[in-house]
Amino acid sequence: MNKQMVAIIGGAVAGSEATYQLTERGIRCVVIEQNDLPYGKIEDGLPKWHAKQRQKEMDLIDSRINHELVDFVPRTKIGKDVSFSELYGLGWSAILLANGAWKDRPFPIKEIDEFEGSGFYYQNPFVYWFNHYKESKYSGEQITITDNPIVVGGGLASIDVAKILQLELVVMALKERGISVDVVEMEHKGIQKTLDAHELTWDDLGLQGCNLLYRRDVTNMPLASIPPDATPEKEQAIRNTRQKILKKAVDKYLFRFQDHRQPVGILVENNKLVGLRMIETDVIDRKAVAVKGTEHDVRGSMIISSIGSIPEPIDGIPMQWSWYDINSEETGEVNQLERVFGMGNVVTGKGNIRISRKHAREVANYVAENHLPEAGVDVEAIQKKVKEWQTRVGYDGNYSNWANAHSRE
Ligand SMILES: Cc1cc2nc3c(=O)[nH]c(=O)nc-3n(C[C@H](O)[C@H](O)[C@H](O)COP(=O)(O)OP(=O)(O)OC[C@H]3O[C@@H](n4cnc5c(N)ncnc54)[C@H](O)[C@@H]3O)c2cc1C
Repeated sequence: MNKQMVAIIGGAVAGSEATYQLTERGIRCVVIEQNDLPYGKIEDGLPKWHAKQRQKEMDLIDSRINHELVDFVPRTKIGKDVSFSELYGLGWSAILLANGAWKDRPFPIKEIDEFEGSGFYYQNPFVYWFNHYKESKYSGEQITITDNPIVVGGGLASIDVAKILQLELVVMALKERGISVDVVEMEHKGIQKTLDAHELTWDDLGLQGCNLLYRRDVTNMPLASIPPDATPEKEQAIRNTRQKILKKAVDKYLFRFQDHRQPVGILVENNKLVGLRMIETDVIDRKAVAVKGTEHDVRGSMIISSIGSIPEPIDGIPMQWSWYDINSEETGEVNQLERVFGMGNVVTGKGNIRISRKHAREVANYVAENHLPEAGVDVEAIQKKVKEWQTRVGYDGNYSNWANAHSRE
């Protein structure tokens, strides 16, 4: 096994699970991570109120990367700091793409791009801001939350975005009344109960709050997945669950929700984005179909697009539409490239830790059992290159020291 060396791009849930499966078999791994630390969406996606779960997942990732058979290469983005062709040319036993889905699906109205960062925001940078803006070292984009924001989307993440907006708006409104509340505490308790405790009502705050707009109807919202072999009864039960999930979130966080509508244009006044032109929809065969003549304006002070995430294209990795060109989801095998496999969110597209981990486990074991070159690879030549990459970013090979020095507050 010492003749084998596997490159893993991205060290978060999927990458660290693959690392674990391979090192358990005695296979050396090199984990190449664009950030200082390999926590991915655990740190930058999952909203910060999941504090316990976040810590548990980060500890698990650390324990798997901090292993004698693993070389970690931080601050190295494949496709930018090291090209995919340079990586591929080193002749690894296998390359595993565990780099997640970090590109927001483009908003259907192209003209909105002009307002990105000033009135229009995509979900990934928006949640990143929410998770980190209170840290003393935060130097990223600053976002100002204003009342009557619009969220376009429909998955669990879009509910989280609506919650973030509501929580931030209520914190500000209570602050104006001299009441200080913590966002995380209010998330646990709910906005309604927090207001009750201060003998206030939603109307007292004078807020319009967030407006979540969804293109189909609530029973088609991807809030709980329907297995392909579900009986009609089971399917109906899951559709009812979706309604319950949404109702619970609306009751607890008091945001507005409108289904059956999709954007067809933007509203701009004095060079400022002031809302969206929407059209009503019918749901036919689970697809949203616009109803002619139902166009109407929905005004909003800011717009957040939460319509899904896709992998970032990397030069040299073939694409099939918005996704890497994968031969089968089961094996993660990438077409046209030898011994390159996708795993986790990069393939499943599901914003779910458990699903990412399971997929990574299955693909890593499949690769270990079926695809490692019998004769092995030139481990020394690869290690020489890896050392060069590590030196370039100032990483001395001691993961614990590095993690302590670079962990966030
Ligand atoms: C708002 C929100 C709420 C969520 N809530 C939940 C929830 O309640 N429950 C749940 O189970 N899941 C939730 N998720 C989803 C969950 O966090 C992710 O699905 C899961 O963490 C994905 O793991 P992954 O390892 O596949 O991908 P990622 O976590 O995206 O990991 C990819 C890694 O690759 C690195 N990388 C990317 N590109 C490169 C490159 N070119 N070169 C080198 N490194 C690279 C990244 O920095 C990252 O470390 C939520 C997600 C969001 C956004």
